[in-house]
Amino acid sequence: LSTKLTSAMRTLKGKGSITDVNVASTIKEIRRALMDADVNYKVAKEITDNIKDQALGQKILIAVEPGQLLVKIVHEELTKLMGGEKQEINLKGDPAIVLIAGLQGSGKTTFSGKLAQHIKKSGRQVLLVACDIYRPAAIDQLKVLGEQVGVEVYAEPENKNAVSIASNALEYAKKMGKKVVIVDTAGRLAVDEAMMAEIEEVKKAIRPTETLFVVDSMTGQDAVNTAKTFNDRLNFDGVVLTKLDGDSRGGAALSIRQVVEKPIKFISTGEKMEALDQFYPDRMANRILGMGDVLSLVERAQQAFDEEEAARLNKKIRQNNFTFEDFYTQLQQIKKMGNIKDLMGMVPGMGQAVKDVDISNDSFKPIEAIIQSMTKKEKENPDILNSSRKNRIATGSGTSIQQVNNLLKQFEDMRKMMRMMNKVQDGKMKMPNLG
Ligand code: GDP
Ligand code: MG
Repeated sequence: LSTKLTSAMRTLKGKGSITDVNVASTIKEIRRALMDADVNYKVAKEITDNIKDQALGQKILIAVEPGQLLVKIVHEELTKLMGGEKQEINLKGDPAIVLIAGLQGSGKTTFSGKLAQHIKKSGRQVLLVACDIYRPAAIDQLKVLGEQVGVEVYAEPENKNAVSIASNALEYAKKMGKKVVIVDTAGRLAVDEAMMAEIEEVKKAIRPTETLFVVDSMTGQDAVNTAKTFNDRLNFDGVVLTKLDGDSRGGAALSIRQVVEKPIKFISTGEKMEALDQFYPDRMANRILGMGDVLSLVERAQQAFDEEEAARLNKKIRQNNFTFEDFYTQLQQIKKMGNIKDLMGMVPGMGQAVKDVDISNDSFKPIEAIIQSMTKKEKENPDILNSSRKNRIATGSGTSIQQVNNLLKQFEDMRKMMRMMNKVQDGKMKMPNLG
């Protein structure tokens, strides 16, 4: 997905602004990329329609290329669609009861062990309950995991009634003063009526504080259908997305959230008991987009650049009116964006290039001091700077005449460039005859 999106974004790069025409093909590519990632067509269309509306409504900032701006919009949209904020598991109740549901092989038992360890770390007494009565090895699997994370496992190998095991376990937990009970259940390879009825019964009997639906992120489009079926019967509280360490596509996270309107609470990223993370929508959006730091660059630029100020400067440049005062203002804007070196490092491909270069905000200090030592009249009209004025400025700013002269020369060059650009734009200047 990420390479597709990257190329979709690239199409927009270098275009002056976001318009209907240049956004349309990019939007189409984004939609195709989402569908390739197993996001269902309706969901993908909804997402891209939203993105398009927002993109067209955005004012373009001079500092940000439209492509980058679109990345930001897509990122925000994906984050929002996946719930915005991270959602905590509800562990109220004494004991709190967590019911784990899902298809066989989705990672329920593994997740139960991980969750037990996660909760145990916060200092609460946990009990794991083995309610998979169909596979003889299931109890042993949970026992091994329980031992590994140091959590007691409740099991009744002879009992073939999941509802009664769960109820007995609950009673045992209360007696032993356990604070959280995690009930691992059986799952079939595909949704079937008997299995659904059983877990429904278990749910009714133990009244869990939290029912979590576990789903294998590698199953793509099927994951969405399974989620819908489970949600219709169980009305679960949250989703656990497993096997995100594999070659999984981001689509499941997006579509499940959209279709069942339940938050994803955890992601599972490996077979080790430590491989459990809370679900952060913005991080998942990052991962889907694969665009790393470009986003924070865009954000910082947007915060720092005052659009009106930019327009004002633009006008002054157009009128050949750019003064040292304006130059100083512009320096402050650049500095507001953060450390210069960091900023350059965030531009893709630039990180290596500036690694060993010493650019710090301090590099601007002498320039700022020189400008601050000028009178208002001097800033507006540097032509009046004779040698006695230059001497005074150098002394006042703690710099040398040479530094003052250098800055004056750079400034004059800059103004010349601006005048030339204005002429080109006005069509007053003919291209030099190269023949
Ligand atoms: P259950 O049938 O739903 O209880 O699923 P299990 O917990 O037994 O997991 C099925 C298989 O998937 C096992 O081999 C697990 O080790 C593996 N598994 C579970 N979660 C993950 C995960 O996040 N990443 C990877 N790579 N494998 C996982
Ligand atoms: Mg299991």
